[in-house]
Amino acid sequence: MKYQIEVKSSFCAAHALSNYGGDCKYLHGHNFDVVVRIESKYLNQSNVMVMDFKVVKKALKSILSSWDYGMLLNEKEDHEYMEHLQPLFERCVLFETEPTCERLAGQILGKLQVSLFDDGLFGAPEYIKVASVTVSETSSYSATVFADSDDE
Ligand SMILES: [Zn+2]
Repeated sequence: MKYQIEVKSSFCAAHALSNYGGDCKYLHGHNFDVVVRIESKYLNQSNVMVMDFKVVKKALKSILSSWDYGMLLNEKEDHEYMEHLQPLFERCVLFETEPTCERLAGQILGKLQVSLFDDGLFGAPEYIKVASVTVSETSSYSATVFADSDDE
């Protein structure tokens, strides 16, 4: 048996998928929704909860705050946007690749795992981890990344 908790948050940002053949190659914005799932084999805090929702929320907000109201660009492809727009916007965030929902979810999962567990209060216990992160860019389109399973 194992437990899972979910914490949701959101941010708004512009991005462009330069290598995409359709309209997504143009600079456009979304209100991104984020769902984080933390999984544990045991209940903590006197055997009543996986962990405090507020701790997860705070760590997630801290990660998303650097993207919120930002412009998320591909440093290898978006040279024209970078040249013209970067000087005008303080919050241009450069990614090594296309800032798709999949890539954003992967970055959130990695950063959250480090801030909550690897560097966090819990140390790095094997029984609790960030299990998955879903990023939605519309009500119809989302991507989920899963942490590697212990069984693999
Ligand atoms: Zn988009």
